[in-house]
Amino acid sequence: MAEGGVIVRLTVLGCWSPYPAPGGACSGYLLQDGGAYIMLDAGNGSFSRLLQFVHHCDLRAAIITHLHPDHYADLYVLRRATVAALKRGMRHRRVVLFLPSEPAQVFKELAAFSDAFEVVPVDSLPEEVVPPGVRVHVASVGAVRLFFLPACHSLPAYSVGVEGSGYLVYSGDTAPTEELAALASEAGIFLCEATGLDGDEDFVQGRHMTARQAGALARRAEVRELIITHFFPEYDLAALKAQAEAGYRGRVELAVEGDTYFLY
Ligand SMILES: [Zn+2]
Ligand SMILES: [Zn+2]
Repeated sequence: MAEGGVIVRLTVLGCWSPYPAPGGACSGYLLQDGGAYIMLDAGNGSFSRLLQFVHHCDLRAAIITHLHPDHYADLYVLRRATVAALKRGMRHRRVVLFLPSEPAQVFKELAAFSDAFEVVPVDSLPEEVVPPGVRVHVASVGAVRLFFLPACHSLPAYSVGVEGSGYLVYSGDTAPTEELAALASEAGIFLCEATGLDGDEDFVQGRHMTARQAGALARRAEVRELIITHFFPEYDLAALKAQAEAGYRGRVELAVEGDTYFLY
């Protein structure tokens, strides 16, 4: 999608929801663009895992797709680490924090952490229509452009496009939508939630996707690579993978904590 020589790398920090598997973490990913790092969701346990890859002082921004604890709970520890680093002169700028401004009560609590975060409500960002005709909120972190697409979830949520020399689309938590398929149509890697098995269709309706629905959406979007994530710890991952592959009619990767992908 974009020109410009920026290396963009994705590392899986946590892939579980709504609670982690033993030794695991909830939703969290680390994006690298050249020397800058961006945390994409910050679920329980993801900050500890992030420290295995980078120093937290190198974190320039954090993106929270929505205000469910399995996607933001580690902001509390990121705040503590950032405040300490600022005080000790180990970093000079706060972490830019993109997040939805609803539910208001949670947003208010997080927005008050102005000692660590430069808070940017996603819904206040300028809107733009990006190819192939999708209306999104846009922002930039260094050379990386971010696209925020309203998702279909139980509270205000966003899917995120990350554009450098590669183009990643992350579903966040959402039911399948045509807008997401359109946004993902430009993606090298599509990181998509796969919360349910086939029998869960009624349960997830309007909020999440089954693995098969994630596969079908990725197929409609003709993404080059599909990685599924957001796993319920009690489920058989092989069954999720098989059902996603049936929907995608191709090979699907399971997100694995600690794995890194080069984006394209
Ligand atoms: Zn979730
Ligand atoms: Zn959620």
